[in-house]
Formats: sequence, C-alpha cells, structure tokens
Amino acid sequence: MPRFVEERRELIDLLRSRGIKNERVLGAMMKVERHRFVMPTFVDSSYLDQALPISDGQTISQPYTVAFMSQALEVSEGAKVLEIGTGSGYQAAVLAEMGCRVFTIERHMALHLQSRKLLQSLGYRVATRSGDGTVGWSEYAPYDGIIVTAAAPSVPDPLIKQLADGGRLVIPVGGQAEQSIRVVTRAGDEYVQKDVEGFKFVPLIGKMGWEK
Ligand code: SAH
Repeated sequence: MPRFVEERRELIDLLRSRGIKNERVLGAMMKVERHRFVMPTFVDSSYLDQALPISDGQTISQPYTVAFMSQALEVSEGAKVLEIGTGSGYQAAVLAEMGCRVFTIERHMALHLQSRKLLQSLGYRVATRSGDGTVGWSEYAPYDGIIVTAAAPSVPDPLIKQLADGGRLVIPVGGQAEQSIRVVTRAGDEYVQKDVEGFKFVPLIGKMGWEK
C-alpha cells in the first residue's frame, strides 16, 4: 500500500483552494511522492505546504511555489523545459510527470549526484548536469520553458537567449530577503514580463547570479 496518499490528496485540495487550477500540474503533484525527496527526519512533514531543508544548506521549495511556477510555465505535453537548481529533484519530477522533456542543472556536485540517482531509481527520465545554470544549457536550446528555482539579482541574459518563440521563463528576482516571481514570455523579438510578489528562495549563485 503506497504511503501518504491521503496526505497528498489533502495537499492537492489546499493548492486548489489557493488558486492552482491547472489539472496537469495538480495531477502530477498527486503522483510525485514528495516524501522520497526530503531528508529522513522530515518525512512526516512532506505534505505540509512548507519548504524543507535538503543537504548543502539548500531547500526543497514549498509545494505551493512548485505548483505556482509549474502553472506559470504554461507548457503543453512534450514541451522541452530547462530547470536551473535541481536540488532534491522534486520540481524536475513534477515537470516530467506533466509530460515535459526535462533538462536540469545543479551547482552542488553532491546534490546533483544524489538527485540524479533518486530520479533514475523512481523511473523519471530527466537529463541532469552539474554546473553553473546562470549561463543555461546551450546545446539543447531553445526551450519552451525555463524555470529557475533559486533567487536571481536580475534575469540572466543567456537564459532569455535560450527561450523558444512563444516560450516562457519563470524566475524569482529581487533582494535576498524576499522575491517576486517574474514570468517573461517571448513573442518573436518581444518579451513581455509580469511579476507576482511574495516568495522566498535560496540565492542563485554564479556568473550571472549572486557572488559566492
Ligand atoms: N528545484 C529544487 C529546489 C532546490 S533550491 C527542488 O525541487 O528541490 C535551489 C537550488 O538551486 C539549490 O540546490 C542550489 O544549489 C541551486 N543553485 C543555486 N545557484 C545555481 C546555479 N547557478 N546553477 C545551478 N544550480 C544553482
């Protein structure tokens, strides 16, 4: 008997009540077992709407934030998506479960290796890499969606350049204390941006991010 099914159902109801409407997002989050992606000591808190610590001083994002960002990408089945900040691998698993072809980059080697192993063992086909994601992953560009799961001082130019026409970049930007989630939509040579306030992420560190 799979564990935490009822807890997961309650979390999905909560996300719905908080305004998440995309059924592919909700369906994927009902399937992905978040308790596999957290540290053993936090397993019982897996389905609370909270960010939780993972290794290297990083966090697995709050479920509402994962749902909000996944919905904001507005990607269809088969879309090619780049994630910066693999962390635990949870967001990558949600995108894979939504039917996306996922490419993900993590700067911490230990987290990269750990999440790669976990994603593989759970059967998620995700392309993973370690390195500085602020410069993107040009070999596989352009992407229908790019999602950054750490807070940037500003939008890194290489990510904008790797966006397909009609694609969306979803990225937290702002100071270190609190950020807005910015959605940049490309229409030909035009880029339309929209900000939603009130989120909190760990910092994006790298060439086009914050300094170490
Ligand atoms: N999406 C993750 C959230 C992890 S927190 C999850 O679902 O668990 C954000 C992650 O971004 C951290 O693991 C951090 O190490 C990573 N990160 C920060 N700057 C980065 C960069 N320049 N390139 C790649 N990863 C980065």
